Amino acid sequence: MLIIDGSQGEGGGQIFRSSLTLSLCLQQPVRIKNIRAGRRKPGLLRQHLACLRVGRDISDAQITGDALGSTDVVFEPGRVKPGKYPLAIGSAGSTSLVFQTVLLPLLLADGESELCLEGGTHNGSAPSFDFIQLAFLPLMARMGYRAQVALERFGFYPAGGGRWRAQLQPARQLQPLHLTSRGDLLKREAVVTSARIAAHVAERELQQIHKKCHWPAEELHQRQVESAGPGNIVSLRVFSQQVTEVIEEVGEKGLSAERVAGRAATELKRYLQSGVPVGEHLADQLLLPMVLGKGGSFTTLQPSAHLLTNIAVIRQFTGADVKVERESELAWRVTV
Ligand code: ATP
Repeated sequence: MLIIDGSQGEGGGQIFRSSLTLSLCLQQPVRIKNIRAGRRKPGLLRQHLACLRVGRDISDAQITGDALGSTDVVFEPGRVKPGKYPLAIGSAGSTSLVFQTVLLPLLLADGESELCLEGGTHNGSAPSFDFIQLAFLPLMARMGYRAQVALERFGFYPAGGGRWRAQLQPARQLQPLHLTSRGDLLKREAVVTSARIAAHVAERELQQIHKKCHWPAEELHQRQVESAGPGNIVSLRVFSQQVTEVIEEVGEKGLSAERVAGRAATELKRYLQSGVPVGEHLADQLLLPMVLGKGGSFTTLQPSAHLLTNIAVIRQFTGADVKVERESELAWRVTV
């Protein structure tokens, strides 16, 4: 059985999730040990456990190590069964990360699927629902992977309670993805979303974006939404002809509105200055659909530990060599 060491590279949850996805798609049994050894609280959190259980449900997998805090899991998948699956995390953990874990196995199966996801929809350190809808899925569609999503309720950490649905059609005629330029800028917008948070927070965040990025008032928006608990997220969106980038920071207790927006602005400047189409997070999320599809290449920012670790896990499962080459001072080319 293939053994994946969860302590390699950046030692986080992505190693576990990528291993499940690859195991399901390649029908390759796997043991993942030292899960999240690089994190302060190692082992499976609720979000990772939800990934494991949904992975089991869609494939009648045999599993061991199915418990919170588990650092050693054996996963032996059966054939992936498309269908209707509820996918509740049971906490405010990120639904998007669970979605991405089972998305490719279901898209590559031979029928339609429908997912109803419940938990966090706009979490820190994870793609938000908006990122999935605006940045990730359009590039998936370019590769021939078809999925539509609709948000029903926002869910923020720690209360959670968010809900959204996804319709997945089986992949047909997959295409390589070649993404080495952004194309013309079509639109920019900053959207601050808040639930049960004083209005001045969003105002100050938008003022900070105006000050740091010089975006005019007509590109700055705020929305108050219903949610089970308080939450706040700054979302900077750059719509170009070839790609949409979504840069986000989640508000946290103890962090000023100016700091939250300032961090997003710094990340935005890094992206805009580099000229590359693919930002840091999209880069590591595009690898699996490319490897399991028809490959391709893209240019991106300096590779993150996430990207390099994902490449190492892919190599262990498939033997495929994903090349990363520096193209210029601020741009790297990734070829699958
Ligand atoms: P842990 O780090 O606690 O092990 P984890 O399971 O949440 O936890 P990570 O290994 O950190 O996992 O992976 C997080 C994933 O979320 C990565 O794919 C990363 O690209 C993505 N991500 C993180 N922050 C953002 C963001 N702001 N926008 C979009 N995607 C993000």
